[in-house]
Amino acid sequence: MTDLTSLTLAEARKGLADKTFTSLELTDAHLSAIEKARVLNAFVMETPDQARAMAREADAKIGKGDAGPLAGIPLGIKDLFATKGVRTTACSKILGNFVPTYESTVTSQLWRDGAVMLGKLNNDEFAMGSANETSCFGPVGNPWRREGSNTTLVPGGSSGGSASAVAALLCMGATATDTGGSIRQPAAFTATVGIKPTYGRCSRWGIVAFASSLDQAGPIARSVRDSAMLLRSMAGHDPKDTTSVDIAVPDYEAAIGKSVKGMKIGIPKEYRLDGMPAEIEKLWTEGAAWLKAAGAELVEVSLPHTKYALPAYYIVAPAEASSNLARYDGVRYGLREQGKNIIELYENTRAEGFGAEVRRRVMIGTYVLSAGYYDAYYLRAQKVRTLIKKDFEDCFAKGVDAILTPATPSAAFGIGEKGGADPVEMYLNDIFTVTVNMAGLPGIAVPAGKDAQGLPLGLQLIGRPFEEETLFSLGEVIEQAAGRFTPARWW
Ligand code: GLN
Repeated sequence: MTDLTSLTLAEARKGLADKTFTSLELTDAHLSAIEKARVLNAFVMETPDQARAMAREADAKIGKGDAGPLAGIPLGIKDLFATKGVRTTACSKILGNFVPTYESTVTSQLWRDGAVMLGKLNNDEFAMGSANETSCFGPVGNPWRREGSNTTLVPGGSSGGSASAVAALLCMGATATDTGGSIRQPAAFTATVGIKPTYGRCSRWGIVAFASSLDQAGPIARSVRDSAMLLRSMAGHDPKDTTSVDIAVPDYEAAIGKSVKGMKIGIPKEYRLDGMPAEIEKLWTEGAAWLKAAGAELVEVSLPHTKYALPAYYIVAPAEASSNLARYDGVRYGLREQGKNIIELYENTRAEGFGAEVRRRVMIGTYVLSAGYYDAYYLRAQKVRTLIKKDFEDCFAKGVDAILTPATPSAAFGIGEKGGADPVEMYLNDIFTVTVNMAGLPGIAVPAGKDAQGLPLGLQLIGRPFEEETLFSLGEVIEQAAGRFTPARWW
C-alpha cells in the first residue's frame, strides 16, 4: 500500500469510501508520522486516544453508509481553537493548562462532518507573529530547507504548526486563523494552500481572540481542492458570533475546474515594491501568464492606499489585542502569580504569563487607545482602513473579479534571522497580506514555484466579499500549471 500520509484529502476520501483502507489505519499512519517528526515541534499536544476513538466512530459510520463529508479524515487543530476537554493555550504561558469546557464552532463543525482530531498545533503566542517564534512552546521547523543547507527555517506564522504539519504529511489538513496573513504567509512558506475567507464567513466563537475585527478562521491543506472541502465544513452562520454572516455555504469543491475564461484579473501596481527579489517578480509574471492562458483577462489596477495598510494594521491590531487580552488577569483561569494585593497579582501574572511580543502589542495598543492619542492614532488608522477598503471596492466596481499578488515578499528565512533588533523587520513580512484583512476580503495563497535556493514561493489571489469560489477556480489554474511540491524528508 502507498504511504497513506501522502494522499490528498480528496484521495483519502475516495479510499475510505471504497474501503481500500479504514480511518483507523489512516489515523495510525498519521500518528506514527507525528511521533517521528517531533523535532519539527509542530504539535504542542498529541491526542492519539481521542484520534483513534474518533476514527473508529467514523469507520462505523462509513460502514453504515451515513458518513459525513470529512468522515475519517485526520486533521490538526491550531491551538487557538478551544477544544472541549483538550488543553488549549494559544501557545501562551498565561493560559497555563487551561482545558475548555466547550468546543469552538469551527472545530465542532469539522467533527460533525466526521473529521478526526490528531492533536493541537503550535502557533505564535496569541497568533502574534510571522515566524512562529513567539510561541511559549518554542519555534516550529519548516520541513523545507535551502538546497545543500542544514539550517532550520521558520514555517511562517502565526499558523506555523498548521503549515509545517500539513507540508510534512503529519495531518491531511489543519485549521488556522488569519488576522494579518497568518494563514496565507505560512502556506506560502511551506508550499501548502491556505485560504482566509471573507470576514464573517466562519464563526469566531471559541477561537482565542487577537484582533476581533480582523480575525478569521480558514484551512491550510495540500491542494486547492482539499482547502475547498475543509472550508465548506468550517464556514457557516453561527448565532453565537454576531459578525458571522447568514449566507448559505456553497459547495466550494464545485468551483474546482470551472472555467475562468473572461474573468478580469487585476494586477495592482502598488504591490511592485522597490527592492523586491527578482524571483518574486518573476513568479508574479508567470502566474499572470498562466491565468491569461486559461482565458482570463489581465488589467493593471491601482490600490493607492496600500502603503498605509501595514502602519494602520499595526495600530488597529494591537489596539484590539490590548482590549481582548485584558481578560487574562490570573483570577478566573490560567496562570496565577500571587501578589500582596489584587493589583500586584494582576501585574505579576501578566508580567510572567505574556511573552515579549505580546507585551509589546499590549503596550502599543494601550498607548494608541489612551486619551489624547486615540484620535491621532486609532481613529486615524480606522479612517485609513476605510480608504483601503474603498480602493478594493473601486477596483471591483470596474468589473475586476480577483486580484493577483505575491503572497510574501520573500521565501522562508532561518530561525532567529529576522526581527531580533527591530520588530518592524518582521512586520514587513505581512505587507501583501494585511490589506486583505483590513478590507475583510477573502484571500488564497497557492504554491507557484521555488526560489533559487529551492524554497517554495506562493501567489495570492484576493476576491470580492463571499466569492471564495472564484478564488478556488483561479487557484486551481495556478496549481495545475505550477504543480504541487513536497519537501524532502530530513526529520
Ligand atoms: N504577522 C501578523 C501579526 O503579527 C499577522 C498575524 C496573524 O494573522 N495572526 O500581527
